[in-house]
Amino acid sequence: MLYLRLCAFAFIFCMFSPMIGNTIKDNSPLGGWGGTAIPDSIWSLMQGKSVPKTCTVSRNELRYLKVLHYGKDGKVHQGELICNKAIAQDLLEIFRELYKAKYKIERISLIDNYGADDTRSMEANNTSCFNFRFMTGSTTRISKHGMGLAIDINPLYNPYVKGNKIDPPSGARYAKNRDTRKDIPMKIDRNDLCYKLFIKHGFKWGGAWKSSKDYQHFEK
Ligand SMILES: [Zn+2]
Repeated sequence: MLYLRLCAFAFIFCMFSPMIGNTIKDNSPLGGWGGTAIPDSIWSLMQGKSVPKTCTVSRNELRYLKVLHYGKDGKVHQGELICNKAIAQDLLEIFRELYKAKYKIERISLIDNYGADDTRSMEANNTSCFNFRFMTGSTTRISKHGMGLAIDINPLYNPYVKGNKIDPPSGARYAKNRDTRKDIPMKIDRNDLCYKLFIKHGFKWGGAWKSSKDYQHFEK
């Protein structure tokens, strides 16, 4: 009985220890996988960028994740992102499944490397999550990305479409007649593994919205 209890404790500790420590657990030559509190160097990089002076989300609500992913070149790359602690475990599990399936994600780099400029990041087909902002027209209501509860995957090939407005603008050629097209790389639709994994983890997909379509976007 004691043995069983010890095993259960060890299992639970192993499941959650990556989420509570301050050190990144690196098992692979590339740096590998991990979820931690935000390291000091990353937190200072975020200041004035994804963490502007107006930011009302606290550091301890956020997590720093390292994931591996297959790129456009078919090789393994190191990715890093910031998200809300509420979805950190979901994202680690989803990215692990995508990695196992060799699902291609071109780039997973901190949006701060693009000056927290959403359009620049999307033009670079960069997958990102947290970027503090209020909802359009509000000074109190925080957007889902502002909370770190939304993520955009391969955004250039899976743009945001509302009427004639397409974001990023260079994603226009991937916006038209998406339902029937087979020539769109890394396309997210209902048959896509990425879509299926996010839905399984309780996320909503922007591609299912009515008045606009945000094909890159998943939120909780
Ligand atoms: Zn989004």
